[in-house]
Amino acid sequence: MDEKIFVTKAFMPPIEEYVAEIQGLWDTHIITNMGAKHKELEKKLNEYLQVKNISLMVNGHMALELAIQAMNLSGEVITTPFTFASTTHAIVRNGLTPIFCDINPETFTIDVDKIENLITDRTSAIVPVHVYGNICDVEKIDIIARKYGLKVIYDAAHAFGEFYKGIGVGNFGDASMFSFHATKVFNTIEGGAVCFNSEEFGLDLYRLKNFGIRNPEKVDYVGSNAKMNEFQAAMGLCNLRYVDAEIAKRKKVYERYIELLEDVSGIQLMKLNPDVKYNYAYFPVVFNEEFGATRNEVFDALAKENIYSRKYFYPLTNTYDCFHGKYDVEMTPEALRISKRVLTLPMASDLEDENIVKICTIIKKVSER
Ligand SMILES: *Cc1c(COP(=O)(O)O)cnc(C)c1O
Repeated sequence: MDEKIFVTKAFMPPIEEYVAEIQGLWDTHIITNMGAKHKELEKKLNEYLQVKNISLMVNGHMALELAIQAMNLSGEVITTPFTFASTTHAIVRNGLTPIFCDINPETFTIDVDKIENLITDRTSAIVPVHVYGNICDVEKIDIIARKYGLKVIYDAAHAFGEFYKGIGVGNFGDASMFSFHATKVFNTIEGGAVCFNSEEFGLDLYRLKNFGIRNPEKVDYVGSNAKMNEFQAAMGLCNLRYVDAEIAKRKKVYERYIELLEDVSGIQLMKLNPDVKYNYAYFPVVFNEEFGATRNEVFDALAKENIYSRKYFYPLTNTYDCFHGKYDVEMTPEALRISKRVLTLPMASDLEDENIVKICTIIKKVSER
């Protein structure tokens, strides 16, 4: 087989549609700095995500880093190591100390029963992750945050377009970050956004996004630069027209995987919450002891057939070389166990049934060896 199957595949609109969307830019020559496309996408996403406020950013990481910065935090931030590098890096790059909380082994999100034990008088915020699009226990987190006066910034990079009990996920906490990276369910090539409730926070965030420039003669904040440009926004405007159809197709792929894998002994699938409207971004599989083969054996068997799954999220961020053993991985035993056993399978709206069957057949064969 020559065809390679990857874990994600960037969605691209028909090229004519993108060309039509960017055509006008050659008249105005306004290709960045919160131009017309930027404003239009901001408005459309505000409606689509059903959030109060949204600010578009050059990428998801800067969105998260600046959202944390705009909170004016100090000391310690409680988060999880079962995530992409960006979450932990955004905390550390803000001069804050990440305190790693374990995850719930069924949902892979932060274990809310273990948060309070980690709170000290230095704790200023919680940065939980809606990992694989699984929504954290937002109610419990809200109660804890209020009790101790903590800010909550959600890494919602995986949760684009999701709703919990009918509420857009971008509404929870003090702010939520979305990623519009090429590999995500909705992309603007690279891109991201912060959703938030407080107008005052929005002003601080805006200054961080644009050098702290209030007006051409007044700069009152040592800001950064994280503006989404017009070509990114144009891609977003095109892709937004297709995203519902894409999610519907992903759902079919997702359900087919479940059908083929749910009864396999030793295979643990992600526990879905009936209160969540999902985007079906990822299909993680945990290979437990009874499966009879390791995650790495499955990974290799698939790779041999040109099928590229990902060991998402391995290694845990609290074991990264850049932290020089500073964090004790024994603090997060469930995250450690899951990270050694999990594999995310190829997930794309156009993944053919024949290939889904093939992937599942290879997986089952590994356990029978
Ligand atoms: C993709 C991702 C990010 C970063 O987003 P970018 O747009 O790639 O910068 C942050 N957190 C998580 C969990 C992600 O998957």
